[in-house]
Amino acid sequence: MSVPARVLKLCGEGEYRDEAEAFLRAPGDAALVHRGVMRSLVVRCPDGCGETLIVNLDPRAGKAWWLDQRGGRVTLYPSVWRDAGCKSHFIVWRGKIIWCDRFEYGNEEPDYDAALEAKVFGLLSPDEWRSGVSMANTLDEIPWDVSRAARRLVRLGNAVEGTGDRRDWFRRVR
Ligand SMILES: [Zn+2]
Repeated sequence: MSVPARVLKLCGEGEYRDEAEAFLRAPGDAALVHRGVMRSLVVRCPDGCGETLIVNLDPRAGKAWWLDQRGGRVTLYPSVWRDAGCKSHFIVWRGKIIWCDRFEYGNEEPDYDAALEAKVFGLLSPDEWRSGVSMANTLDEIPWDVSRAARRLVRLGNAVEGTGDRRDWFRRVR
């Protein structure tokens, strides 16, 4: 078993899947399939199993991930989860791969933005639950960044997070 990748590297772009897949060399390498619109991101599985993952980006083709490339680094939302094969489960966040079920040791999150924490707090109300994704849309920020800031507010005692279906929903403490 090879060492799991900790970064997702965008290596190229093609019109068709096989064209994009030709760019992939190492675990964590990725390439876009772009034909008119972004269709998918092909990724050499970052756990080193050698398989290629197809992450759908086109809502017309079914469940689609949100892809962001600010700062030249890829973010995907939500997490990528393989039901079959190696069952890898990971988050791609500003180019970093954060492992969820395995290899957690060595996970390294992107830098924390304290200014974002104040913006998130400004959106929270004591009377209404607000989801991390909805706040990210309002702020034009990355959902992973927003949820992390909100959870820090929870740890500080300024906000609460829901449970069950309301996980990743927040409200301000009265
Ligand atoms: Zn794998």
